[in-house]
Amino acid sequence: MQLSSDWVLTLKNLLLPQFCRQCGERILTEENGYFCPTCWEMSPRIERPFCPICGRPHPAGIGLGTRSNFLCGPCSASNEQRPYRRILGAAQYEGAIEEAVKLLKFNGRVRLAQPLGELAAEAAREELDCETYGFVIPVPLHRVRHRERGFNQSKLLAQEVLAVLPNAQLDESLKRIRPTKVQSRLHGEAERRENVRGAFAVVEGGHVAGATVLLVDDVVTTGGTIAECALALRSAGVAVVDVLAVALALPHNPGAQSK
Ligand SMILES: [Zn+2]
Ligand SMILES: [Zn+2]
Repeated sequence: MQLSSDWVLTLKNLLLPQFCRQCGERILTEENGYFCPTCWEMSPRIERPFCPICGRPHPAGIGLGTRSNFLCGPCSASNEQRPYRRILGAAQYEGAIEEAVKLLKFNGRVRLAQPLGELAAEAAREELDCETYGFVIPVPLHRVRHRERGFNQSKLLAQEVLAVLPNAQLDESLKRIRPTKVQSRLHGEAERRENVRGAFAVVEGGHVAGATVLLVDDVVTTGGTIAECALALRSAGVAVVDVLAVALALPHNPGAQSK
């Protein structure tokens, strides 16, 4: 006898009730198993207008109602050479999405890579020229941390993003060549920058020379990690590096955890 999927779900809910990690409500639909649809939908996304270089949304009221992006103050004032062309973030590092990233990364809830990766993929489809990327490259973990954790969350996310990049393949020639401290335990941008300086290199990556690459990370905080990754990629001859993150930790939320 074949039970209908509704019945299977009802039985599962009876035997193994699931509760939203954010609001504690009983979850009665399949969804992602950890958050109710309301908390997931309420978790703030980054929507236009936002800065097309650093990805940050403009303060409330600025550019209200327009769908056209424009540079933020700091990006338009800066003439600093960036190793990447742009950062695109799908959501703000808050609410259910922040909780989901932490559950994925620090509690091994790898099932969450799918809904989180889909958020990033959706943002890519809307905002990037998806057919121009030859490679999608995850921000790597050092092999020791990789062994401890058992997986690289950025790679799981990159695999979901691959679905919207018709000409890209997953590439792992970018390596973290020395262990680094957890960025969130360090104070200030200078210390974080120093922590990751020279920590990345492209190994046996001759094939990436000349390519346009999408670098994928879970959360971008001060941008120190992705800047170092992009520098390593550029030194290996990569023509263009764009960065895609599930979430951006905005200035009012500096406690964001990284790696
Ligand atoms: Zn909820
Ligand atoms: Zn900006």
